[in-house]
Amino acid sequence: MRCLSFTPIAVLQLTLFSVTHGAKWTYSGPQGEPHWTEHYPYCGGAFQSPIDIKSELLRFDPTLHPIELQNYNLSPNEQLTLGNNGHSLQISLPSKMHISSLLHRYTAAQIHFHWGSSSRPAGSEHTVNSKQYAAEMHVVHYNSDKYPNISLAVDKSDGLAVLGVLIEVGEFNPAFDQFLKFISGVKYIGQKVQVPGFNIRTLLPVRLDEYYRYDGSLTTPPCYPSVLWTVFRNPVAISQKQFLSLATSLSSSYAQDSALMPLHSNYRKPQLPDSRVVLVSFKEGKGLHGTLTVTSPLTRKRVIQQLLVGDLADLADEGLYQLLPSGSQKLHAGKRKDHKNWQSEIVAKPKQQSLNPSPWKKNQTNRDVGKLGLAEDTLCYVSVEQRVFHQLRQSHAENQLVQNLRNAVFPELNLKSYLDCKSDLALSTIRHILRGRPSDEAFELDRSLTKALMNQKTTSTPNKQNGPMIKHGGRPSAAVPKKPLSHGYPHPWLLPMEWED
Ligand SMILES: [Zn+2]
Repeated sequence: MRCLSFTPIAVLQLTLFSVTHGAKWTYSGPQGEPHWTEHYPYCGGAFQSPIDIKSELLRFDPTLHPIELQNYNLSPNEQLTLGNNGHSLQISLPSKMHISSLLHRYTAAQIHFHWGSSSRPAGSEHTVNSKQYAAEMHVVHYNSDKYPNISLAVDKSDGLAVLGVLIEVGEFNPAFDQFLKFISGVKYIGQKVQVPGFNIRTLLPVRLDEYYRYDGSLTTPPCYPSVLWTVFRNPVAISQKQFLSLATSLSSSYAQDSALMPLHSNYRKPQLPDSRVVLVSFKEGKGLHGTLTVTSPLTRKRVIQQLLVGDLADLADEGLYQLLPSGSQKLHAGKRKDHKNWQSEIVAKPKQQSLNPSPWKKNQTNRDVGKLGLAEDTLCYVSVEQRVFHQLRQSHAENQLVQNLRNAVFPELNLKSYLDCKSDLALSTIRHILRGRPSDEAFELDRSLTKALMNQKTTSTPNKQNGPMIKHGGRPSAAVPKKPLSHGYPHPWLLPMEWED
């Protein structure tokens, strides 16, 4: 979907939308997390964050280089604004700060935090094998190569990059005191104080080369799936006293309010993986033995091209394993030639990659597939929401907005993410791609794939994640007729498919 230009009608609709999108939301009570979708339908949609970073979701990616940060060392003369926005403690950052090691330049905008409470010091959003840390810091950046400011980037699929830092309670952390010592000045919503600049790098873990990477969303309304997430492997520590200062100093009320609402436990629960995997830049350490290496972007591109224009009968027979979740490599050890090539190709090209900010592997692939009319560069979530809402209103089915939005964006998000090695290909996406192919061949492929996935589900042990993964990622897209759920099948999406002729 191409981004809409601003016509008067679009502006009018945006005004209407900004009314609903200004709706109040909280972490508990009648506007708490379960109610976010009432005003923010993407919160019930695809590719949501945070997630539980489970071992079985991890895939080693040899192209993940250390995160490089520019101009993070600020002088005390540069004033930063520390504020309370009612949901978090936030520090504004100057636009000279940026990440230089990603495909685009991502300019820093702000830092904010999520934390537990004094009685329950567990408030990180991302969890690692279900372990929740005391707090989490998010350094929010936007794609300044493509967008002039964060407001225009926030609803675009390639708009944001967030660095996540897990925080545990331990040693005193002098870097965190650079702003925590001013926290009493921002007790109420809307309050702001100026704090002297400091080296923001010191808030991050020492090692910037070890991290988790996945495709996800804002963890607060409007929950747009626009975030390239980097969560560092190593947590940083703050003292118990520092944690308590964060957890007990702030209120989500205005200074003039009579009732005082304390601001704590401001974290969202982990969301479903949705066919996504978590790339890791490291291979060593506890629980990482046997972590699969991601299959190459070239293989992925070939798979998609074959689905689009190739011989489907061949795919149903020979190439079926390529369509199964990447864990299936283990089951097909004899067919890993390409996998080896992928690694040797990387070993041969490290210099070129670090010099060139646009790694050879990524954009070219998406562009080629884009030419085939499937995935355009960017999804614009506000435009998609307007379009879907308009369609539903004509059929008086506005109550289906959450599910329809999900169906509208999932295949494209899944496909982009698959080509970029950050997702497995969901069955619903395969079916989406197969629309327009001769139905007998497509049906045969669908049948073989369904059978293979069912076998994999019942026989394979290395793919424990298949349950929730296929479950969420494989919801029927708009193209696939809805069917009642059958509990006799391992999964409803594995039901035989009906083709519209
Ligand atoms: Zn956050």
